Amino acid sequence: MRAAVVNQFKQKLEVKNVDIPTPGQGEVLIKMEACGVCHTDLHAAHGDWPVKPKLPVIPGHEGVGLVDKVGDGVTSLKIGDRVGIPWLFKACGECEYCLAGQETLCMDQLNGGYSADGAFAEYCVAPADYVARIPDGVDPIEIAPILCAGVTTYKALKVSGAKPGDWVAIYGIGGLGHVALQYAVAMGFKVIAVDIHDEKLELAKDLGADFTVNGMKTDPVEAIKEKTGNGVQASISVAVTKVAFEQAYHSVKRGGSVVLVGLPNDSIPVPIFDTVLNGVSVKGSIVGTRKDMQEALQFAADGKVKAIVATGKLDDINEIFDRMEKGEINGRVVLEF
Ligand code: NAD
Ligand code: ZN
Ligand code: ZN
Repeated sequence: MRAAVVNQFKQKLEVKNVDIPTPGQGEVLIKMEACGVCHTDLHAAHGDWPVKPKLPVIPGHEGVGLVDKVGDGVTSLKIGDRVGIPWLFKACGECEYCLAGQETLCMDQLNGGYSADGAFAEYCVAPADYVARIPDGVDPIEIAPILCAGVTTYKALKVSGAKPGDWVAIYGIGGLGHVALQYAVAMGFKVIAVDIHDEKLELAKDLGADFTVNGMKTDPVEAIKEKTGNGVQASISVAVTKVAFEQAYHSVKRGGSVVLVGLPNDSIPVPIFDTVLNGVSVKGSIVGTRKDMQEALQFAADGKVKAIVATGKLDDINEIFDRMEKGEINGRVVLEF
């Protein structure tokens, strides 16, 4: 099968022939139809984070495909079922987090396209219990970004604690942000979109943002305070730059929350006095559980959220990464197999 492989950090991915994997006990072999390209795949290829992926690794955790073979002991899936390869590739199922419905915090998890080979390949093997069940009647290319961008931002909005009618700011209208704002609209929030590229803000307006700010031209914190009176109830940063996180922090009103989702390998100063006196919460949010995934997929199946996609080919993965790094992708690029 053809696969895009990271052999060494910060080098071009090699698109080459590798053996089709065999599903083991409890696993399924999936013939991929589509896979979204997430900025996390770029972090993986660069080795950006303190915890490194295995090498060589096949990235890709927004994969959609059809079950092609089932391994021993699999009773929940059959050949032809459409499933998704998520970031939460596998968890232990037994630890305090798994038992408490917080499986994304499992210490013993595997991650798709990071610690396990992912979906930038014509076939992928994955545990039957953790693949996402794709609702009937959806387009595999359009649904692919929901497997990460969708579930991640849906979950971040849930943990933000914002209520219908509240103002919510989304920092970074890229692959994650452009679906984040659609979930936010669908959940009844008033939405402010912040990015540093005008074409992304145009897209944000088309997708229902109530107010947009170009952070390169205007101070988003001032603009947000002016628009809302005292700040937003929640701000979600899905940008890949430190400054966006600082601005997201300063955009919330008293009692508000800042949800950190983007993953630059960086830190921000959190002012103790303001955080205490204003009762501000700073939270991290990592993808979502299998239940969050079902809910996030259903929003898309119901037509309330629709990723804006451009298709690409596996052979073009290095060029797609270059464009992502330059911030040139509007919406999501989805590899089509
Ligand atoms: P992307 O490249 O598609 O989008 C990033 C966006 O941020 C771009 O639109 C860019 O223009 C914008 N941006 C850059 N600087 C900005 C600034 N100063 N202010 C506002 N916007 C700014 O990336 P993506 O695929 O959406 O991923 C975003 C980040 O989220 C990555 O770091 C990725 O690893 C991370 N991520 C986290 C989770 C999680 O579970 N926490 C899941 C998926 C991805
Ligand atoms: Zn992702
Ligand atoms: Zn566990």
